[in-house]
Amino acid sequence: MNEFNWPEPDLSFLPGTKALGAGEASYFICHNNNILQLVDENEAWRPATSEELGQFDEIQKHYMGMLGGKECFAAQVSVPGAAVFANLRMNIQNIDPTLFNLAGRALQVCDWYRTHQFCGRCGKSTTESERDRSTVCGGCKLNFYPRLSPSIIVLVYKGDEVLLGRNHMFPEGLFSTLAGFVEPGESIEETVIREVKEEVGVNVGNLSYRGSQPWPFPNSLMLGFHAEYQSGDIVLQEDEIAEADWFPCNDLPLIPGKFAISRWLIDEYLSQRGISV
Ligand SMILES: [Zn+2]
Repeated sequence: MNEFNWPEPDLSFLPGTKALGAGEASYFICHNNNILQLVDENEAWRPATSEELGQFDEIQKHYMGMLGGKECFAAQVSVPGAAVFANLRMNIQNIDPTLFNLAGRALQVCDWYRTHQFCGRCGKSTTESERDRSTVCGGCKLNFYPRLSPSIIVLVYKGDEVLLGRNHMFPEGLFSTLAGFVEPGESIEETVIREVKEEVGVNVGNLSYRGSQPWPFPNSLMLGFHAEYQSGDIVLQEDEIAEADWFPCNDLPLIPGKFAISRWLIDEYLSQRGISV
C-alpha cells in the first residue's frame, strides 16, 4: 500500500537578505505579477542566468538566499520584450517544489517592493531597509514588510466519507477541501470552525493540524487541518460555493493534483483509512 507522507522541511535553501556578490547566481525574473518562462532539458521550469537577466531593463533586484551553492535573486523588470512571462500557476505541474516556493517568494518580494514605494501613513517616499526585508518611510520611519495572509484549508471527514466543495471559480467537476482567510484577532482553530460553518453550514471539532504550504496567489500561507464532522446538514454559502457534498473515500470526484496541500490533506486521510494513494 502506498502511504502518504508530508513533505519534509526543505533545508536546501538558505534564506538571507544580504548578497555576498560572488560566483554564479540564479535570477527569478518577474514582470508585474508574472514570472519569466524558461525550461530545462526536462521541460521543467528553471530560473534565469545572469546573461539572460542582461536582456532586460532591470528595475530592482532583491537577494533571497543560497540554493545549491548559487545566490538567488528576485529581479523585477520593466518591459517584457520578446520574452514570455506567465502566472506561476501555469508551471505548477512541472516545477521542482523548492523552485516553486522560491519563484513564489520572488513574485511576493517584487510585488511588496512595487506596492510600498510610499508610506501609507504620511505619504513620503520609502527606501529599502539595511536591517531586514522591509521598506522604511523617509518621513515618519514606519516599516513595511512583505504581506503574508494566513489561511486555513480543511478536510472535513465523517468515517468513510469526506466533505468536498466546488468554488464558483473551479473548473467544472473539480472538488476540493474548504479554505478561507484568518480574520484579525482569530486563532487558526477558530478560523477552521467558522469557515466550515460559513461555507457549508456544518459544525466540526476534533481539529488536527497536518501541515502547511506557501501559496503565492497572491500571498497566502495555507495551514492544513483535518476536522471531524459533528452536526448539521450541508447549507451552501451560495455566493462562494457552487456545490458541496459528502463523498465516499473510495469513490472521489476529480480532485486537485499532487502539488497542492488540498490533495495532501485528502491523500493523508485516505492513507489513514487504509486506502492506497
Ligand atoms: Zn511615513
